[in-house]
Amino acid sequence: MKSLTVSLPGRSYDILIERGLLDAAGVITRSVLLHATRIAVVTDSNVGPIYASRVATRMAAAGFQVKVITIPAGETSKSLDMLGELYQEFLSFGLTRTDAVVALGGGVVGDLAGFAAATVLRGVDFIQIPTTLLAQVDSSVGGKVAIDLQAGKNLAGAFWQPKLVIMDPDVLDTLPQAVFMDGMAEVVKYGCIKDGDFFAFLAQRPDRKLLMDEIEHILFTCCDIKRAVVEQDERDTGERMLLNFGHTLGHAYELAGGYERWSHGQAVAAGMCAAAHLGVKLGVTPPDLPERLEGLVSALGLPTAIPCTAEEYAAAVGLDKKGTGNDIRVILLDALGHAIPRRMDKQALLEALV
Ligand code: NAD
Ligand code: ZN
Repeated sequence: MKSLTVSLPGRSYDILIERGLLDAAGVITRSVLLHATRIAVVTDSNVGPIYASRVATRMAAAGFQVKVITIPAGETSKSLDMLGELYQEFLSFGLTRTDAVVALGGGVVGDLAGFAAATVLRGVDFIQIPTTLLAQVDSSVGGKVAIDLQAGKNLAGAFWQPKLVIMDPDVLDTLPQAVFMDGMAEVVKYGCIKDGDFFAFLAQRPDRKLLMDEIEHILFTCCDIKRAVVEQDERDTGERMLLNFGHTLGHAYELAGGYERWSHGQAVAAGMCAAAHLGVKLGVTPPDLPERLEGLVSALGLPTAIPCTAEEYAAAVGLDKKGTGNDIRVILLDALGHAIPRRMDKQALLEALV
């Protein structure tokens, strides 16, 4: 088993990574929750039918009373309505402050169940069992939990660290190809911003089967990078912004496509390539870097560019709104494996992009 410990002031938690670990979920959970009686397992309508009864059985065998709560799959479940439903389900189950919530699913389930755990009864323990690649390398680590509001994504949320993250790479076998590759965009991002050797390692195996052969190493490397960043900057005021590489421009593409045409991973992939070209224009990024990045991105079946108008870019950086400030921070690469934040005038950024 590979494991790492996220150490934050006053508390720390383990991330455990091993094939087949789902079958040990009960025993491991008991080892960190000595006094809990009830476990509310939140899952979604795709993940639940495949994995929930397995997890519930193991939890029951470890002496917990278990209730499985299944939400509809998809981003629309990260809503105030669904949050309210979870509160009701928790309380009708008899959940108390010494009990716990388990998130069994992708980032949607993790964010929603995590926010519900952070706020019900002023906060109960929370365990993540992430089942998408994105959730394993990104959303289950770092303690950000949230729901979407009408005004935008992730606008109500909290920092609520899990007690434990249980990662079973085998669950990725049932992921649709597009969802797997979406997660790969974030994996590539880690190589770009922090580890050039890891980037080269990925570039040698840009194929799902080859990547799955090395999946424990991949998950460990990504989680270790995120761990280090989060330990330095739990509240997202400094170092953590490097994780936004590819995301400012990616956001423009998501917006341009009405959040339907392009998935988050596709938008981030194209955003990273655009940021690499921008960096070359600004004299920050080595000239051969965009081609190397585009080679890996396209080998993974992700887009290297997405059409976007000046107006769409302007909307994404807030230039269409008054009073949002003239500067924006973009993350650029000064080497493959090293990122730097750069403040730019928004107008100058737009001119460099279109
Ligand atoms: P998701 O949770 O919607 O999962 C994608 C799809 O895969 C869903 O249809 C789901 O039902 C299905 N699925 C999940 N696991 C499966 C499995 N093992 N087998 C078969 N199908 C499976 O999407 P996601 O990409 O995991 O997460 C996206 C969410 O994560 C967004 O809401 C985003 O805001 C959030 N996020 C949060 C953070 C954070 O730090 N909290 C970071 C990044 C993203
Ligand atoms: Zn992302």
